[in-house]
Amino acid sequence: MTVGIIGHYKCGEHDMGEYHPENGKRLTAISDQLIRSGLDYVVRQFDAKPIDKSLISLAHTQEYIDFVFNNAPNEDDETFSVGPDALMNSKTLTSILLSAGAAIDGVDLVMNKTLSSAFCATRPPGHHAEHDKGMGFCFFNNVAIAAAYARDKYKLKRVAIVDFDVHHGNGTEDIVKNYFPLVDDKSDGAYLFCSSYQYPFYPFDIKESDTPPIINTPLAATTKGEGFRKAISEHWLPALNKFKPEMIFISAGFDAHIEDDMSHVSLTEADYRWVTDELKIIAQEHAQGRIVSVLEGGYHLGALGRSVVAHINGLIGN
Ligand SMILES: [Zn+2]
Repeated sequence: MTVGIIGHYKCGEHDMGEYHPENGKRLTAISDQLIRSGLDYVVRQFDAKPIDKSLISLAHTQEYIDFVFNNAPNEDDETFSVGPDALMNSKTLTSILLSAGAAIDGVDLVMNKTLSSAFCATRPPGHHAEHDKGMGFCFFNNVAIAAAYARDKYKLKRVAIVDFDVHHGNGTEDIVKNYFPLVDDKSDGAYLFCSSYQYPFYPFDIKESDTPPIINTPLAATTKGEGFRKAISEHWLPALNKFKPEMIFISAGFDAHIEDDMSHVSLTEADYRWVTDELKIIAQEHAQGRIVSVLEGGYHLGALGRSVVAHINGLIGN
């Protein structure tokens, strides 16, 4: 099984301020752990290519896309706020285009069988970005764009997006539920979105749902690995097996880690390995093993690096 990591050093240059937790050190922490673990010799590594602007409209309004492009700062000391906690500096547009482009590259590399699965080690993240607005460290919804691209370019009928970031993937839900086609010509669902998240917690306004295309799985702040595994086993896995996705996208956020101050949920590397293994079993059963995983949150640098290693070992099957 060939697993690839897609990234670009320029994804580290987007900067929302000196003390902001979503910063370029996150990508350095991941690279350092990949080297320390020896995985850098096992995986294939690719430089991301910037996304073609026309593909962003698979998930966002042209008005919002133009708003981001037209307001992107040019000068070093200039900033522009796209939405709540979504601040652009002069490097941000390049990082955004590479981050979304990596997810597109992941789809191409997996579909043309260069890779069995791909992990996009990129930032900024995307799962809070809604159809017409950015928020919560996110500008364009990388995973939603890539999922729509997989259906559009490769004519896949059913794609699943699963999101184990500790924050609800409100942007992905908004796009999947309101703007993506829900049924195929054969009345199969086209998309399934499963999100687990601490609740009540940012971004707060969430409707519980166990009905496709949205499976929302709230977790109490006291949740530990056992509770997480039980919730995923009861809510996600049966829905995914019923849906039979032809490709699985993962919004891979690692901010539910016990060492991560961003949340109160207490997962460990072993839990990220477990959920990756379970998703891989479903991908092998229904999707020829195709998985494209995209980095979302994860702000404790050590825990982030180790969790990504566990996740990639799961994708490889080490
Ligand atoms: Zn998060």
